[in-house]
Amino acid sequence: MELNTNNIKLDILIKNAKIITMNDNEEIINNGFIGIQDNKIKIIDEMDNYNENFIAEKYIEAKGKIVFPGLINTHTHAYQILLKGLGADLNLMDWVKAVVAPYSQKITKKINYYAALLVALESLQSGCTMVADFFYAHHKPKLSDGVIEGFLDMGIRGLMIRNFHDCGVENGIPESYLETPEEAFEDVERLINKYEVKSDGMMKIWTGPGVTWGISKRGLEATVEYSKSNNIPYSIHLLETEDDNTHIKKEYNKKAIELMEEVGFLTPNLLAAHCVKLTDEECEVLGSNGVNVAYNAASNMYLGSGIPPIIKLKNSGSKISLGTDGAASNNSMDMIETLKLSALLQKVSHEKPNIISAENVLKMATKEAAETLKMDKEVGSLEEGKKADLFIFNPEKPKSIPIHNPVATLVYSSSLENVETTIVNGKILYENNEFKTKYDKKYVFNKINNLMVDLIE
Ligand SMILES: [Zn+2]
Repeated sequence: MELNTNNIKLDILIKNAKIITMNDNEEIINNGFIGIQDNKIKIIDEMDNYNENFIAEKYIEAKGKIVFPGLINTHTHAYQILLKGLGADLNLMDWVKAVVAPYSQKITKKINYYAALLVALESLQSGCTMVADFFYAHHKPKLSDGVIEGFLDMGIRGLMIRNFHDCGVENGIPESYLETPEEAFEDVERLINKYEVKSDGMMKIWTGPGVTWGISKRGLEATVEYSKSNNIPYSIHLLETEDDNTHIKKEYNKKAIELMEEVGFLTPNLLAAHCVKLTDEECEVLGSNGVNVAYNAASNMYLGSGIPPIIKLKNSGSKISLGTDGAASNNSMDMIETLKLSALLQKVSHEKPNIISAENVLKMATKEAAETLKMDKEVGSLEEGKKADLFIFNPEKPKSIPIHNPVATLVYSSSLENVETTIVNGKILYENNEFKTKYDKKYVFNKINNLMVDLIE
């Protein structure tokens, strides 16, 4: 680029780094710099074009280090971070009955708030700069506010997918969760006005039904209408197991995807979580309708749910992003680990190592993730004008040395200890094993341990 660099004032200047941009050309800058001003990337270029007139508040010397766009977790349930390790070794339905259903009814706004603080810490430590929380347990009002306020206070970018159920008590949905779609949308409006509009891109609000067996046909139709007229995307758990088909068959005598297609629910505004139990034809239907998919490899393995046909979905036209799912079915929020598991699960299921590459997986966790969250104009790649969401990776660790291909090293040979610095919206929130967030590790752990005494009786 042409430089006109008379004393460009920057907040942070990262120098001498290898930069994995994930821009449209997936360009790698071997020795480059990134200048951050306010919350955005002001300049990104090769060190050959570095100019001493750049004045920064803080310089980060990144020689030998690699800068990646922040990882994006597109499917989790923040409150479940308190349930890590409970009900281990159960399948989905038994685990829901034993762990999720009883505890989800004890949630308060305060519990959600502290859970979100811990989610932020664990996410930042794994290079994750944006988290989509799928909150479905509305047994009393304003519970999602706790998660939102926790994310905002910690400075991590967030998406609140404010779910609802309008039926399904006979299928195990607690009666206290039930509300009409209109009541749910009214709350979505409230959340947008209270948080999204003032957050300067730090918090987005979506809607969507929790599960297919907790939503009526009218509820599905109302979701699509609301989404269309307000341009608000939506999400749902879809075919994590065969239970969706069992319930829909009983009620409507058809398969889940048939019903979804019939009511016009399959649109590019849908982010479908899981999509494990799909036939080849159903992959075609989702792909040709532009449905986006959140792939949760660790959770699908942990609960023994199965292997999502991610490659078929991708080849059919779906965009794929990665999620941890709730920490109670993972059992962590580690996005670095998620990269490796997401790749390995597909390789072994196809018995073909080249069915998915490290680069494909990194894209699903960054650029493509931003596309599935409709945030690609703001985040997902390192480019001038985009929000400064990134992490600095130090490969000088026994697990990672030697380094031949930085992306392969990140995906297959790394762990939390490689993440040296995490920056969200131009702010350093994690650096050299220390959190720079509003609340530190000690405060959050203390609060969580005290809360657990009340929660687990
Ligand atoms: Zn989930």
